[in-house]
Amino acid sequence: MPILLSQCGITNDFIGWRKILEFALDVLTEAISTFAQLGLSAPTLRTITKIGYEKPSPIQAAFIPIALTGRDCIGQARTGTGKTAAFMLPALERLDVSMNRVQLLVMAPTRELSEQVYAESKKLSVASKLKFALAVGGRPIGKQIDDLSGGAQAVIGTPGRVIDLLRRQHLRLNDLKIVVLDEADRMLDIGFRPDIERILKSCPTERQTMLLSATMPPPVEKLAQRYMIKPEMVDLSEDRVVVDTIEQFYITVDEDRKRALLLRVLAKEKPKQAIVFTRTKRGADALHAEFTKRLRSNRIAAIHGDLPQRKRDQVIKALRAGELRLLIATDVVGRGIDISGISHIINYDIPEYCDDYVHRVGRTGRMSSDETGRAITFVTLQQGGELTNIEKRINTVLPEYKVDHFEAFRTRERPQRTIRKFGAASE
Ligand code: AMP
Repeated sequence: MPILLSQCGITNDFIGWRKILEFALDVLTEAISTFAQLGLSAPTLRTITKIGYEKPSPIQAAFIPIALTGRDCIGQARTGTGKTAAFMLPALERLDVSMNRVQLLVMAPTRELSEQVYAESKKLSVASKLKFALAVGGRPIGKQIDDLSGGAQAVIGTPGRVIDLLRRQHLRLNDLKIVVLDEADRMLDIGFRPDIERILKSCPTERQTMLLSATMPPPVEKLAQRYMIKPEMVDLSEDRVVVDTIEQFYITVDEDRKRALLLRVLAKEKPKQAIVFTRTKRGADALHAEFTKRLRSNRIAAIHGDLPQRKRDQVIKALRAGELRLLIATDVVGRGIDISGISHIINYDIPEYCDDYVHRVGRTGRMSSDETGRAITFVTLQQGGELTNIEKRINTVLPEYKVDHFEAFRTRERPQRTIRKFGAASE
């Protein structure tokens, strides 16, 4: 059983002690090597064996025993390390199958991610008689209403549709026991926060609140505490928020040579499946149109928030099925999506926020894949500062990616890069 910092009476101000105790937590967490040690029920253990999960991931080993107690908790761990099962397994254990009322509400920032969590949850609860409802926009509301009136005990969805169903009084949260915010930092940022606050106001105050994310900037963590009661913090993100199964590079490039560079990189890397991230929807569409023509391939698609849901579904389905080799995308698929075939992430446009970098590259090198992933970030000469911010965030200096016989940028002056290891103390 992991040691909890607050149980030891240690406050966050004692950074030195915190580090030592976090180390102890790591050591003890590693000592937990089976799901049976976590306090899960026999039917759940049988399901886990059937699914083929051999041992709990570190976030599962640390988070599940705490979550099972019903306490509020915040879990932070690197992308693709099994966070969904870390909150879903204990949450599902705490539901009463005989009560046909909504007891669990899980919210995620995108429809695609909600659907993925929904699918994973059904897999994890296959032996139980629990009923689920998926509450996402862009889908017929009729089926969602039917599922709710049919006595769904667990609801998974996006905030907009959840509010819609609450307003129409098809969703009632009076008997709610647990609320989970997946990708919690995104859910609490300014875009979603008013919706989340409204939804939380409709939930009983006596409830368990769980927050999970790979990234949790300190102001968001502080804000999160407003909605929770003495939450336990399980932080396994360590100094390096990106998993070791992703090889990361940067390459300096002039804006007008990015397309030529992308062609070179694709020819050199021969990705099984790649996601190319752009900053804007228009940028994604333009790149998609050009590359479909140039590569004469129908295995390329684009995805962004302006596409109709039907099209978004088709694209994700084709990507999961391995039919697409290249997906040109905005950050709409930057978070959470778990597809084992994605071998490469190309940041055609450097992300605006460093945390978005962490989420984008986390779409490759996942637990569900046997292979390492590669992430290559295109950086213009003017974006040196943005690259440095990312390197500080991931506590890693990225090596330069080389393409032979190709001048990616015109040699005016080379960007000055100071190579140093970012230590926690210097930040
Ligand atoms: P997540 O980070 O929750 O998106 O999970 C990433 C992938 O790891 C998913 O495909 C899960 O099905 C898989 N996974 C989760 N937990 C385990 C485990 N303990 N052992 C093996 N695979 C797992």
